[in-house]
Amino acid sequence: MKLLVVGGAGYIGSHTARQLRRAGHEAVVFDNLSSGHAQAVPDGVTLVRGDLLNPADIRAALDAHQPDAVIHFAALIEVGESMRAPGRYYRNNVTGSLNLLQAIVDTRKIPLVFSSTAAVYGTTDAVPIPEDAAMQPESVYGETKLMTERMIHAFHVAHGLPYTILRYFNVCGAAPEGDIGEAHPNKTHLIELACLTALGQREKMMVFGTDYPTPDGSCIRDYVHVQDLADAHVLAVEALHAAHARGEAGQATYNVGLGHGFSVLEVLDAVDRVTGTPLHREVAPRRAGDPPRLVADATRIVRDLGFTPQFTDLDEIVRTAWNWHRTHPDGFRR
Ligand code: UDP
Repeated sequence: MKLLVVGGAGYIGSHTARQLRRAGHEAVVFDNLSSGHAQAVPDGVTLVRGDLLNPADIRAALDAHQPDAVIHFAALIEVGESMRAPGRYYRNNVTGSLNLLQAIVDTRKIPLVFSSTAAVYGTTDAVPIPEDAAMQPESVYGETKLMTERMIHAFHVAHGLPYTILRYFNVCGAAPEGDIGEAHPNKTHLIELACLTALGQREKMMVFGTDYPTPDGSCIRDYVHVQDLADAHVLAVEALHAAHARGEAGQATYNVGLGHGFSVLEVLDAVDRVTGTPLHREVAPRRAGDPPRLVADATRIVRDLGFTPQFTDLDEIVRTAWNWHRTHPDGFRR
């Protein structure tokens, strides 16, 4: 299969482009490099520089490369920033996705796998969270992902667009080879921040709340390794493409997580063990909008696609992140 990987120079997209190649597929990355990195695009993968906000760019890429399916990762992803700059988020994530959808149905009507998030659920009492839980995003970021999910569904109903939506929980870790990993311009994720603190780039780790109704008082999240998530995309696009070839409509939504969680304090303990240096920790107030416990009900993707995560041990997950940050303390910058 030939895949157009939109946003494929970013953290999850670059790991997915690599796993697609390893599964024997051809990949072309389309990215505006606003937060992605050309160095993250694997060998043997063509990089097309273009922007979803210019409809002509994406139409030209579809025409030139004639892909069999599209995987769409391109988005702004920071919850806090989305609350301060909603216009940027709606324009980039919603209008950008709309331009992509229109180009697909106008030109090739090929299957689409979309990168969504557990942030579409917001705070929910249903934990572990099934895919049919109520969706009440608490941030503009989550809202833009939910709006895009709904647009995709409308294009499916009106134009027969086949689609699979993957809702990620807490993505973390790095390729075991240590050559690609997380390198966002603004760092907010727990494991990345802890690794950078262990490297001395930050003084201490703030623990945002130890008064939650959880066993140790800190928040619990479902940490899914980026390479397992990349493999979930390979499974999803293969199944969707096969269904499309059989003439089936193709429409599915899956949570991607391990189905169990770790607390903030458990994660920091793992980072201490892996780096061999206990981090200086400070208890800070709760961070606005953090639910106590977010864990995926991942039974559907296991059942339908045979998803089998390889990275289930917290220390092993952290070791891959540490290996990347230790050898690339400035990310992709030399
Ligand atoms: N967290 C923390 N200190 C930090 C960064 C994050 O205590 O410096 C907590 C955060 O409050 C949440 C968990 O770690 O409970 C995971 O946060 P992250 O930003 O990694 O992912 P999110 O769950 O927000 O998607």
